[in-house]
Amino acid sequence: MNRTAAGPGSPAAGNQPNRHLEVNVRVLNFSAGPGVLPLEVLEQARDEMLDWKGGGMSVMEVSHRGKAFVACAAEAEADLRELLAVPANYKVLFLQGGATAQFAAIPLNLATPGQVVDYVNTGSWSKKAISEAQRYSTVNVAADAGGKYTDVPAQSTWKLTPGAAYLHYTPNETIGGVEFPFVPDVPVPLVADMSSTILSRPIDVSRFGLIYGGAQKNIGPSGLCVVIVRDDLLGKPRHETPVVLDYTQMAADGSMNNTPPTFGWYFAGLVFKWIKRNGGLAGMAARNRAKAEKLYAAIDGSGGFYSNPVAVPARSWMNVPFTLPKPELDKVFLDEAKKAGLVNLEGHRSVGGMRASLYNAMSPEGVDALVAFMHEFARRNG
Ligand code: PMP
Repeated sequence: MNRTAAGPGSPAAGNQPNRHLEVNVRVLNFSAGPGVLPLEVLEQARDEMLDWKGGGMSVMEVSHRGKAFVACAAEAEADLRELLAVPANYKVLFLQGGATAQFAAIPLNLATPGQVVDYVNTGSWSKKAISEAQRYSTVNVAADAGGKYTDVPAQSTWKLTPGAAYLHYTPNETIGGVEFPFVPDVPVPLVADMSSTILSRPIDVSRFGLIYGGAQKNIGPSGLCVVIVRDDLLGKPRHETPVVLDYTQMAADGSMNNTPPTFGWYFAGLVFKWIKRNGGLAGMAARNRAKAEKLYAAIDGSGGFYSNPVAVPARSWMNVPFTLPKPELDKVFLDEAKKAGLVNLEGHRSVGGMRASLYNAMSPEGVDALVAFMHEFARRNG
């Protein structure tokens, strides 16, 4: 199958992020995660696979304590710090266990057993973070978008706990496609699960006590989790904290108390360089905003054929759920989309419908192809 049929014809050449449309074995992958990765980075990893840095072996086969890997790890950290302008009083950790491991690590490292922790519930991932925290702490749900999760509750309605150890929220809910249009302003350390929004645009790291994100959307392969934590929050892990989740210990050991996920770390470093070559986070933000606006415009302009339930100010740039007028059309849509080279558009099993994830590596031309397909599908089935 010539999947370039899904493309716009002659996508930009050279080292443009759009080049994946020219490679005819590649599909347009709208998965929510693991998600699409930059073609150039995949090609570089392929080219370096058998002989990394002239050592006659792959990066996966070298010692994590050897000079070459230590330098690669340090460079990845430096590039991430540069991209996000991470202030000097924050540590950057490259951990295992995904974001889910941090759901436990956060109360274990940041809250004493008696302390209340505040959480905002805006959807499926907030809920998971809350139930894991409840194993270790008394959780106050400061705000609950409740029921359908199609909006972010205004901060003026939140019931904060004076002296809470921290406030946790999920800036972008990957399943519901609900994104905070603001950074909360609270007197306690702000903790953010940025799994599906990190590196999609610039952020002011100094507003946060701790930021974390699983890698498999905008960073690289799954398994790796990036944690950015302010120095003053370290030094107080609970005694029972497993060492692999102990931020203080991991910071002291440069994330190498045990063997780190070396391939994921290396690959993340290549992605950071790709972002730097493509306009940094300002460049990503401009592309991501335009991509999302185009898709929402197609949904809103479809005369009701497609619909997205999320309140307009809280619509995600990264994950765009939408429904068709009749559920019977879902399978037809997905089958036809797949034939056109557009894959992984089914919504999460818990909500149904469709979902298109537009992570950094999804090109504007990929979104154009999706929008053209949707338009044509609506014309034939409306
Ligand atoms: N938080 C959010 C917002 C997510 O999207 C996900 C995964 N899709 C997770 C947490 C869980 O991440 P992991 O599978 O890496 O543990």
